[in-house]
Amino acid sequence: MDTLRLYIDGGYVDADSDITFPTVNPASEETITEVQQASDGDVDRAVKSSQAGFEAWSAMTGAERGRILNRAAHILRERNDELAQLEVLDTGKPIAEAIEVDVLSGADCIEYFAGMAATLRGDHYDLGGDFAYTRREPLGVTGGIGAWNYPLQIACWKSAPALACGNAMVFKPAELTPLTAARLAEVYTEAGVPDGVFNVVQGDARTGQAMVSHPGIAKISLTGEVGTGKKVMASAAATLKHVTLELGGKSPLIVFDDADIDNAVSAALLANFYTQGEVCSNGTRVFVHESVHADFIERLASRARKMRIGDPLDPATDVGALISEEHLTKVLGYIDMARSAGARLVCGGGRPAGLDRGWFVEPTVFDQCTDDMQFVTEEIFGPVMAVLTFGSEDEVIARANDTVYGLAAGVFTSDLARGHRVAAALEAGIVWINTYNITPIEMPFGGYKQSGLGRENSHAAIEHYTQLKAVYVATGDVEAPY
Ligand code: NAD
Repeated sequence: MDTLRLYIDGGYVDADSDITFPTVNPASEETITEVQQASDGDVDRAVKSSQAGFEAWSAMTGAERGRILNRAAHILRERNDELAQLEVLDTGKPIAEAIEVDVLSGADCIEYFAGMAATLRGDHYDLGGDFAYTRREPLGVTGGIGAWNYPLQIACWKSAPALACGNAMVFKPAELTPLTAARLAEVYTEAGVPDGVFNVVQGDARTGQAMVSHPGIAKISLTGEVGTGKKVMASAAATLKHVTLELGGKSPLIVFDDADIDNAVSAALLANFYTQGEVCSNGTRVFVHESVHADFIERLASRARKMRIGDPLDPATDVGALISEEHLTKVLGYIDMARSAGARLVCGGGRPAGLDRGWFVEPTVFDQCTDDMQFVTEEIFGPVMAVLTFGSEDEVIARANDTVYGLAAGVFTSDLARGHRVAAALEAGIVWINTYNITPIEMPFGGYKQSGLGRENSHAAIEHYTQLKAVYVATGDVEAPY
């Protein structure tokens, strides 16, 4: 593959320095390609191009923008196989997941907001003769900064509502997964999105910082770690940018004694091992009622042991490779920590035998965990599940909420009233009852507490990518007392 360049003003351009960085296939440890690093000057060039793009794009009607975005979604669907393969090369996730979710959920998102583009409207206020109305206007040039676990999906979740509302966007994918955001830019151009409306700059935290501090960017939407969110929010304060933050979590998944155990086991497996556990909303603290705990562990272990780990391009693979060697070391460190803290290893626990190359870790389950163990309180972002037991509803709610995070939660019960009662009591932006990690585009997605600020998807995203202008209209003369 040729060196990946920046995508500015409707096409690929060279960065203004010779600095490049490699993007590496996590399953083979081989370099896929070199990527040009954007300088502050390149970010400025991208912003200026987006300002020009914004003029043309925001002058169109919502219906016109919607038609173009629908074409983009159609092209994405047609390129599903190719883009899913690129996503697998870059992330190490299994191809079956990438084909089914990554590209198509991006297309779903673009279609959803394409449909909404023509529905944007303000309100009318009757003021006794006089009246006022509001206009829902775009913010201008927005900035999107992505994480590496769902690179294309994240680029779509940010750009689709931004563009539908008439904004332009400068997007920076994570430096570990730069490939598919540039392809999305190609798709937008092919669909008829004017040049500059979606530009892609490549690079690491420095490039992200250049975006956050650029006065020409009105809003930053970040997906990343809590620590990064805090830094971004602090530096965005200098130019009072709007911010949306989609950050990490350590979410509880609660299994009551009246739950369908097989169903709860299926959810716990998906909520911990899908995409090698590299999912922000994962239910990694699995609270199981003490009366069903032994049964739960037995069924869980037998199914976890059967999961197939290996070549992500093999359609039969269930668990792929972690994103980087550094991340592998971090995840293995948490497994060691769990062992030395006295948690009981049920299955997994290290690198799989026979896979000498690639950053693979077995699906790992620890039982007899306690709330204060470090691996139970901190986000691992790998295939490591902690099982804890509880006795009463009040107890489990208090323990589930005892965390700085608040992204998601799951409740398994056959008692309808309890399901809703517990959902209301949990401090989380998303609660699933009798399922987990289902994220339709129609539903708001985002966190409570330190898991984030603002919401993606649904009608809520429209509010985050527009600003309200109130217009007062007088129908009589101005009455001046002097
Ligand atoms: P990260 O915070 O290291 O990086 C995220 C992005 O921010 C990257 O593009 C990076 O280059 C950029 N960045 C880093 N420092 C920056 C700075 N100071 N200023 C501007 N940009 C900066 O996160 P990651 O390792 O790529 O992703 C994993 C994290 O993302 C996990 O914590 C996970 O929970 C979270 N995540 C959250 C969601 C969600 O929707 N809530 C979804 C996916 C991942």
